Amino acid sequence: MAASLRLRGAASGLRFWSRRQRPAVASLAVVCSRSMASKTPVGFIGLGNMGNPMAKNLMKHGYPLIIYDVFPDACKEFQDAGEQVVSCPADVAEKADRIITMLPTSINAIEAYSGANGILKKVKKGSLLIDSSTIDPAVSKELAKEVEKMGAVFMDAPVSGGVGAARSRNLTFMVGGVEDEFAAAQELLGCMGSNVVYCGAVGTGQAAKICNNMLLAISMIGTAEAMNLGIRLGLDPKLLAKILNMSSGRCWSSDTYNPVPGVMDGVPSANNYQGGFGATLMAKDLGLAQDSATNTKSPILLGSLAHQIYRMMCAKGYSKKDFSSVFQFLREEETF
Ligand code: NAD
Repeated sequence: MAASLRLRGAASGLRFWSRRQRPAVASLAVVCSRSMASKTPVGFIGLGNMGNPMAKNLMKHGYPLIIYDVFPDACKEFQDAGEQVVSCPADVAEKADRIITMLPTSINAIEAYSGANGILKKVKKGSLLIDSSTIDPAVSKELAKEVEKMGAVFMDAPVSGGVGAARSRNLTFMVGGVEDEFAAAQELLGCMGSNVVYCGAVGTGQAAKICNNMLLAISMIGTAEAMNLGIRLGLDPKLLAKILNMSSGRCWSSDTYNPVPGVMDGVPSANNYQGGFGATLMAKDLGLAQDSATNTKSPILLGSLAHQIYRMMCAKGYSKKDFSSVFQFLREEETF
């Protein structure tokens, strides 16, 4: 309840700001004055499970960083490595003309951009602001309008690939925004991912991401159900996974991120579902898919069911576990 009130408050604040008079939009010449292809400092806001390894890859490519996270401990190792830590997003914007945000939800992104000490308070004309969080495409569009009024450029660039892909620079970025700015975004995103795909206008990166994660949730639940059924029928889980992965049921959830403990090494199911992509974040993404489906009158029967399953898991103590813990959830439900 409190969270939804905060979201409504923040969202209505955004609408209010969008009605206010702002300085005229920057000319293309101003936008182009941003330093491209140089190793000037890059701002990075949100150093969590994903932001941490992504920022480290920018460091490996020689970019000095200006760092901020609401949770100070998240900044410590960057400070120890000599990067500059500041006390709010506005200070990041004062020191860097290219900023990447990697935050959990729409509310956090609104706060980081439009809050009392947000990026918009000190953003420089011509700055490039790239939001890699997975958020509501409607919020991305609102943020883009506010950023544009300040003479800067906003792009949404959510990612696919988990923490492992973030570490190994194998993320896929789905980018929405002005096409002329794509090359500038690609220069930075290419340091953190192996695929950087231009999707269209602002918000289309989020649209692609939401569709992908809805399919991922459905395939993970399907894999967990199939593995659980097979085990109960007496099959060895490793053998069953091997057969699925050479057959038509194969998918990323079965061959790269198998949810059954003991089947694969180096995945959350091998580590009591610690780390990885939290069930809460998956429930959030499915909520975004649900909202988008309602807005576009699209039937998402399995997507809606997946949303309910992940919401139920969060209510039953799985919120901090990786989303593949749906396998454990199903096993605990097996008495019916
Ligand atoms: P996380 O919760 O681990 O990290 C988010 C970080 O943002 C935290 O350190 C938090 O303190 C910080 N933060 C929150 N609000 C802030 C604010 N207003 N200002 C500054 N910092 C703030 O989340 P994550 O797993 O890194 O995910 C980030 C985004 O990436 C989410 O939108 C998620 O859906 C998406 N994503 C995650 C994964 C994954 O496998 N974890 C994969 C793909 C996409």
